[in-house]
Amino acid sequence: MAEEQRVAIDDERYMRRALALALSAEGKAGTSPIGCVIVWNGRVVGEAHNEVGMRHDPSAHAEIVAMRRACESLERDDLRGATLYSTLQPCGMCSMASIWASVTRIVYGARREDVHRMYFEDRHLDVGDILRDAFRDDSRAEGGLLAAECAAPLWKPEDEPPEDAQANI
Ligand SMILES: [Zn+2]
Repeated sequence: MAEEQRVAIDDERYMRRALALALSAEGKAGTSPIGCVIVWNGRVVGEAHNEVGMRHDPSAHAEIVAMRRACESLERDDLRGATLYSTLQPCGMCSMASIWASVTRIVYGARREDVHRMYFEDRHLDVGDILRDAFRDDSRAEGGLLAAECAAPLWKPEDEPPEDAQANI
């Protein structure tokens, strides 16, 4: 099997795992249905769904929690070579954290335009721009994998979520 084909199959498999995590958060108090899986040397080393409300921690995005778990389990603070799968395009905070963790590749599902604006900063900091601006030519981001499925449990751009469900407005 060609390398590209193998990577594509792995990408979909890990994104489905991230999506399953996202869906497992549905209906759980203090969470959002956003999931993240980190793969390093061919194995899952950290995974999480969003736990912001559960932990009363605004930094407990799925990607941050998964990075913490990955680094704890590996007893290292450098994830060079790792691929981070997130069901939603990483925000500015998670993009920067992935740079500090030296994550090599970011693959995300739903893009900013697929979901309600409350999931992002007002002036969007694009993960691709951040990687470029941070002069990280050894890392890259690819979006849109299973985008519709990843966006399904989230508020849509045209929805009007109730005030208590809005994170960032
Ligand atoms: Zn984030």
